[in-house]
Amino acid sequence: MRIFINPGHALGGDPDPGCINPALTLRECDLALTYGSLCGKYLEAAGLEVKLLQSHNLYGEAPGYPCVVDEANNWPADIFLSIHVNAGGGRGAETYCYDLQGAGGRLARAIQNQLVKTLSPFDPDYKDRGVKAHPSFCVLRNTTMPAVLIETGFIDSEDVNLLTRHGDDIARSIARGVTDYANFLVRA
Ligand SMILES: [Zn+2]
Repeated sequence: MRIFINPGHALGGDPDPGCINPALTLRECDLALTYGSLCGKYLEAAGLEVKLLQSHNLYGEAPGYPCVVDEANNWPADIFLSIHVNAGGGRGAETYCYDLQGAGGRLARAIQNQLVKTLSPFDPDYKDRGVKAHPSFCVLRNTTMPAVLIETGFIDSEDVNLLTRHGDDIARSIARGVTDYANFLVRA
């Protein structure tokens, strides 16, 4: 099984670092790359094939950069993961899919469950914000395989302690969600 990992926003933060926490000099692009790289290692250790691409070009809008959706569709990947960090002062994780009823919805629930189960013991205020359909997200709309966009936590709330100290747990949870989903497919 082939897993395509897309850490959100531009590699190196240029030109788009995603959300930032200026007081802590934290950038979403860096956190997402850390989680994505670690997650890829766990998935490879579980015997899955992994490709990772962080790029300013999601679907042809910046042709000077490699295109995330095209790379995933052409590989072709079996699962697409876009990893992000939220902003706006809330708490907890939320995972988006194209369609709650489809395979992407099942994958999203598997990942969301693992994230909340793993991180909430460290901080009970890390909330389960749920799985949500968001068919207009470019990476969910244009990919041809089950795809999810994971918001791991908020860069500008108390979540930041989890985001900075538990990156390995975040990565491992996402990987476990993927293997939960893959095991379901094998059993089904
Ligand atoms: Zn983002």
